[in-house]
Amino acid sequence: MTYVQPELPYDEAALEPAISPQTVHYHYGVHERAYIDNLNHLIKDTHYADMALEDIIRESSGPLFNNAAQAWNHIFYFFGLNPGAGGQPSGALMQAINRDFGSFEKFQEEFVAAGVGLFGSGWVWLSSDMEGKLFITAESNAGNPLTHGLIPLLAFDVWEHAYYLDYQNRRAEALKALWNVVDWDVIESRYSI
Ligand code: MN
Repeated sequence: MTYVQPELPYDEAALEPAISPQTVHYHYGVHERAYIDNLNHLIKDTHYADMALEDIIRESSGPLFNNAAQAWNHIFYFFGLNPGAGGQPSGALMQAINRDFGSFEKFQEEFVAAGVGLFGSGWVWLSSDMEGKLFITAESNAGNPLTHGLIPLLAFDVWEHAYYLDYQNRRAEALKALWNVVDWDVIESRYSI
């Protein structure tokens, strides 16, 4: 199998002011393209070539894990965003957020704090277990909750390449701005209990 980078369902300027067109261009168009190219190179003529990407993430390590997970993580991140989105989830996911974090505002605070507190590069994730219980985890580098048996729901990229052009060292500001473009309809569709 050869992975093809999916086109974003919005243009590069669509996420302003949360994310500039320059950042979308370099982050998705250049960084993500490179992870996918590397993934295709690494799986070619190996038993990973016909394996689902999620299974490669669960079963690999080293450069293959890094590129497979980063390829997956960025599609998951960018396809969970949408211009003019934001707001709050509803339904079963909102009930679970209230149950597990106290309120939506407390969830947002805890999520941003986990991202700000991660030393170096990585991701902050909202995931659920098989019973629907929610977890916030911060993962270094390409880390992905799939490797812990969790179901990823929402990811914010905290690598400097995700925000440095727009926010320099102000990671908290960059993460808080993402709340204005999170597409909760997509995030809820990933939550099944
Ligand atoms: Mn990134």
